[in-house]
Amino acid sequence: MPPVYRGETTFFGAYTEPEHGTDITQLSTVAERKGDKFILRGVKTFITNAPTAKYGIVLAQTDPEKRHRGQTLFIIHTDWPGVQIRKLSGKMGQRASPVGGEITLDNVEVPIDYVVGGEKGINQGFYWTLAYFNVSRLGPAAIALGIMLAAFDKALEYAQKRIQFGQPIINFQLIQEKLARMAMLIEVSRSMLYRAAYYVDSYIKFQIDPRAMAAITSATKVFITDAANQVIDEAIQIHGGYGYFEEFDVERYWRDHRVTRIYEGTNEINLLTITDALRRGGVWKP
Ligand SMILES: Cc1cc2nc3c(=O)[nH]c(=O)nc-3n(C[C@H](O)[C@H](O)[C@H](O)COP(=O)(O)OP(=O)(O)OC[C@H]3O[C@@H](n4cnc5c(N)ncnc54)[C@H](O)[C@@H]3O)c2cc1C
Repeated sequence: MPPVYRGETTFFGAYTEPEHGTDITQLSTVAERKGDKFILRGVKTFITNAPTAKYGIVLAQTDPEKRHRGQTLFIIHTDWPGVQIRKLSGKMGQRASPVGGEITLDNVEVPIDYVVGGEKGINQGFYWTLAYFNVSRLGPAAIALGIMLAAFDKALEYAQKRIQFGQPIINFQLIQEKLARMAMLIEVSRSMLYRAAYYVDSYIKFQIDPRAMAAITSATKVFITDAANQVIDEAIQIHGGYGYFEEFDVERYWRDHRVTRIYEGTNEINLLTITDALRRGGVWKP
């Protein structure tokens, strides 16, 4: 990890497959043990950073019979024999990020040392992936918060400059209402994100039930990414026709934020995670 933290290389996490996106309980990528090695076969898709990273994590089935109880995390290097990475093109937004590489694993030999957690990590991959998502889902929430803040700044500035009916459009009460509602959503989103991050500090010290943490992270991700959807949409509306063209950044903000409701678990599956915690009496309630 140190070269990643130093910014010398990027890193990827490959869970999604062409046939398994939301449902990763039974993967097509398999890892077969041969002595002190595993042989990895399969295809991963939509993998952020795959085209540039030197290495990353792959989730694979080590015991297909056991479904999610038989999955393991492996570290692989992208220049190993049998690893092929294809960059997917035509992405709607976040085009500065080389997202969407497709990774083909053709009998890739992985030494046992590259199993995350060593021997103890075998068949723990699914659970560790969920534990990781409990924290990582705040990433899209933070991205969405940043983009909606930028969109709000642009809208506020534009509303004060744009003259219609002989006056700045911010003088019109319907525009004022939009800006007030946008500001409220930003305030609530920021508080919710910081509070969730505070809980994460306790979670990584094992002081919070994982299902409670999952509910908090999922609620934060869904609320903030939905709020961004509303705020950026209104920012475009305030810009009128100019908001629909790329010269004004709000058009790009729309495209960039859109994926935050899809990756790190779609908002639908995150809503189900919240209700799952609610149904397990005592684990978590709002
Ligand atoms: C730009 C980008 C970057 C990505 N980066 C990564 C990455 O780095 N690593 C990685 O592993 N993956 C990555 N992904 C993949 C992403 O996590 C998946 O696209 C996502 O999990 C959804 O899977 P899917 O696309 O197969 O959709 P599907 O699972 O096919 O879902 C289709 C629709 O059905 C809904 N749905 C599915 N199951 C249910 C259910 N039980 N109840 C209700 N609704 C349901 C979904 O919410 C969605 O609306 C990335 C995706 C994108 C677009």
